Amino acid sequence: MRPDAAALEVRAAAQAAPDLAALAAAASTCTACPELAATRTSVVVGDVRPQARFLVLGEAPGAQEDETGRPFVGRSGQLLDELLAEAGGRREDVAVMNTLKCRPPGNRPPKPVESLRCRGWAERQLALAQPPLVVALGLSATRWFLGPTTLTAVRGRVHDALGSRVLPTYHPSAAIRYGPRGEPRRLLREDLALALELTA
Ligand code: URA
Repeated sequence: MRPDAAALEVRAAAQAAPDLAALAAAASTCTACPELAATRTSVVVGDVRPQARFLVLGEAPGAQEDETGRPFVGRSGQLLDELLAEAGGRREDVAVMNTLKCRPPGNRPPKPVESLRCRGWAERQLALAQPPLVVALGLSATRWFLGPTTLTAVRGRVHDALGSRVLPTYHPSAAIRYGPRGEPRRLLREDLALALELTA
């Protein structure tokens, strides 16, 4: 799929943002995806700081994120905080954002055209923040960097992609689905520990 006019407009607006605050202001009024713009409460731009140890990339905001305007504050976010703590880290040390900035209605998966239109915001956030490492949570965030692949093929190892070092791992929602004794939870904790070690 080629970027359409709306995607190119987002990219131009993002490129024009001189810093992360300006980018957040510009993204907060985005209407590139009419359905998402009409149904969202907030644009969840993300909590991105250049001083962060690494950046965690999720897929899209859920209901609580949409209500509060903050990324990963719902059930997935609570588990992320818990596993980060178990691995010896803290949420305050990491930057967090999503590939898609608006909640898809009913938490449906983002449409390819929406992902493409939203790309420019996250690309510019990465360029401005320059995180030393990106932890990609789940298949969507992983494919955002690596293109068509499977999580089994790439998880737990660092890949160079689009100017970033990327560590793909499970999404906390998979860890929730498979339960406290499931593999996804264990591997997510292990990969977060690796990210902390690599950025110590
Ligand atoms: N899931 C995500 O991928 N991102 C969020 O912000 C919340 C849940």
